[in-house]
Amino acid sequence: MPFSLPPEKIAAARAFAEVLRPGHRVCLTTHVNPDGDGLGSEAGLVHLLRARGVDAIITNPTPTPSRFNFLFDDLPGVDRTPEAVKELRRADVIAVLDISDLGRLGMLSETVRDRGVPVACVDHHVSTGVLPPGPRYLDPEAAATGELIFELAVANGWEMPQAAARVLYVALVTDTGGFRFSNTRPRTLRIAAELLEAGVDPEEIYLEVYARAPEGRPRLFAEALQTLVVEPQHGLAWVTVPPGAIERLGVSSDDLEGVVEFPRSIEGVRMALLFREVSQGRVKVSLRSVGDVDVAAFAKRFGGGGHTKAAGLALAGSLAEVQSTVLAAARAYLGPNGVHPDGLG
Ligand code: 5GP
Ligand code: MN
Repeated sequence: MPFSLPPEKIAAARAFAEVLRPGHRVCLTTHVNPDGDGLGSEAGLVHLLRARGVDAIITNPTPTPSRFNFLFDDLPGVDRTPEAVKELRRADVIAVLDISDLGRLGMLSETVRDRGVPVACVDHHVSTGVLPPGPRYLDPEAAATGELIFELAVANGWEMPQAAARVLYVALVTDTGGFRFSNTRPRTLRIAAELLEAGVDPEEIYLEVYARAPEGRPRLFAEALQTLVVEPQHGLAWVTVPPGAIERLGVSSDDLEGVVEFPRSIEGVRMALLFREVSQGRVKVSLRSVGDVDVAAFAKRFGGGGHTKAAGLALAGSLAEVQSTVLAAARAYLGPNGVHPDGLG
């Protein structure tokens, strides 16, 4: 079956492409602590734009985790994150990928807010926050922003070079947990199939993404998993990163990717949490759910957000304080039998 798009998506995709014209200097950016989807989507869009003579660079609020450097292999110099503010000041267009909220642009949020140039956005998050005006290509049903970049190409009749297909495939693989999470739709696999047809080698991607970890990553997992607490009566399980472990093991917070899947994997658990002190007095909480529990709605109460089954938040306080606040709220949210009292999840 050929890949098709509804007319309203085609119209939105074409309006989006309107602002990305040759001669324009485009800066692409994504959320703090960028992931495979944010970075893969950026690299994919750069390939697609450069193939059309549009100058595009990447200016992110926080550095690219080294394990994702391979995404920029054939785009030397594209990652201008260290000069992000300077580059954004020279941009004719800013494109924000994988987030629709100024709040998660970290140190770049003021520059993006005040630049006065069109701010385009491609995103699949539920909560659409505020961004300065510009074209939008949004679909919370999409498993990954990478899907939406693929759709932009199809709707505009852009060629899909193999190099673009490769990085967009990374976006899909990482945001779906290797096509296992509930966000994996028929459309996700159709797009993945098209990317494979464009020449992607799935094993090469697997090895790049999942088989190049530093030794410290499994050691970090071991330490974090030692802290596991389970409350079957609430359907709750959580782990905590021992303070200082990331530095001591010479890894980065990105190496925690996947650890929260272990508390989530326990039978009867409906909400899993990962606590980690990101700086003195600031704690980040990753949330995952099973079944109909909406962790994005839960995270929102604390100023966080995300997706129904994968969300996050950050709070001021000590590790113990944040744990006590968030866990009390989680117990109430889940109800006595691990069921949300309103039946809403
Ligand atoms: P992770 O737990 O892997 O860091 O994040 C899972 C998802 O939750 C992300 O895709 C992102 O959408 C969302 N998320 C994580 N941390 C935050 C946060 O501090 N604020 C908001 N709004 N969303 C977050
Ligand atoms: Mn994403």
